[in-house]
Amino acid sequence: MQINYLRLLADLRRLAKFGQVGRGVHRLSFTPEDREARHWLLQRMTEAGLDAQIDGIGNVYGQTKGVDKAVLVGSHTDSVPNGGWLDGAMGVLYGLEIARARLEAGARTDLGIDVISFADEEGTYRALAGSLSFCGHLSEADVEVATNQQGKNLREALSEAGYAGRPRVTLDPSRHVAYLEGHIEQGPRLETEGKKIGIVTGIVGIRRCHVTCTGQADHAGTTPMHLRKDAGSALIKCCHDLIQRFEQVRSPDSVWNFGHIVFEPGAGNVVPSSARVLVEFRDVSEATLDRMQAEIQAAAATANGQGGVGVQSTELIRISPAEMDANLAAMIEVAARGRGVPSLRMPSGAGHDAMVLTRHIPTAMLFIPSIGGRSHDLAEDTDAADICLGIDVLADTIRSINRKI
Ligand SMILES: [Zn+2]
Repeated sequence: MQINYLRLLADLRRLAKFGQVGRGVHRLSFTPEDREARHWLLQRMTEAGLDAQIDGIGNVYGQTKGVDKAVLVGSHTDSVPNGGWLDGAMGVLYGLEIARARLEAGARTDLGIDVISFADEEGTYRALAGSLSFCGHLSEADVEVATNQQGKNLREALSEAGYAGRPRVTLDPSRHVAYLEGHIEQGPRLETEGKKIGIVTGIVGIRRCHVTCTGQADHAGTTPMHLRKDAGSALIKCCHDLIQRFEQVRSPDSVWNFGHIVFEPGAGNVVPSSARVLVEFRDVSEATLDRMQAEIQAAAATANGQGGVGVQSTELIRISPAEMDANLAAMIEVAARGRGVPSLRMPSGAGHDAMVLTRHIPTAMLFIPSIGGRSHDLAEDTDAADICLGIDVLADTIRSINRKI
């Protein structure tokens, strides 16, 4: 099969017209722009010769006709507010172009290409709604409780879009031999390390904790320092201690963020009676996440009671890391080498539909560089040459899957 790069790039630019803002797109799930983009994609899939539909959750799915087995290729076409033109869109159009090229070549293989744009990956209503639905993890009750920031319900949005009541497409493990997702990196590693292809080893797990200090409000001018129960200072010291503890147990891929801090009552002349920080940390290894969590508990236990301040930590969110398939990752690596381009094995610090699919079928992700590491922003971009390189490596990977089946 012969990939048509000009057609791929033209499709990407056409898709970017839906909800276009400057170089980027503002295409939130189920808005008119998003629905028009889905309808356009449906037509493109049909023209390519795929059996295409938009299902009951808004997934656009194009199946290769007349085959029993297929590689599923896709991503998402919704965006964050004022997002980039390639985030998600590229992975979907990689699938479309590869499926189209296969059919044009006369489809001499029994392994088909099924293409999917998963609905609401970015979580306007419910993050990963489309892939969760596809894999059987999104109940009608989940749809009922998912709302956007304006309080509109996902059920209502689906009704307005005309998708409600349609059957939902689902994963067929006897048909779908693998899921492949091409995506922009959304970070600066490939660019700064001079690599062209990122082979995703896994998608990081995420945990969030609150560390809360409880002291006593007093006049900040009249209360001597040694008599204060200063929750604010206690929290600052505890955070400082925690940074050093994280450094001791981190992996090279670990990241953390002290994302929000609140002092109460929050006045210059009042000793804080309480203080709370929100700590988020990510890694591809559950064991590393456990170690980091243990350090938070240890830091809180050490600080607890000092200066009359109580310190405790509470876990808020725990999302497990999602490993990618090692055989597929190796195939991507070989494909990149075959094209003579340097690749890098790396975790994904952001969530993707692949993290849902990997629980069910062999799944892999391939990254290409983001210029300046920019994403979730109108400024997001990637060199056209890199976009073309990415689809070549993905198509080569599918060729090697085909040989193994
Ligand atoms: Zn994305």
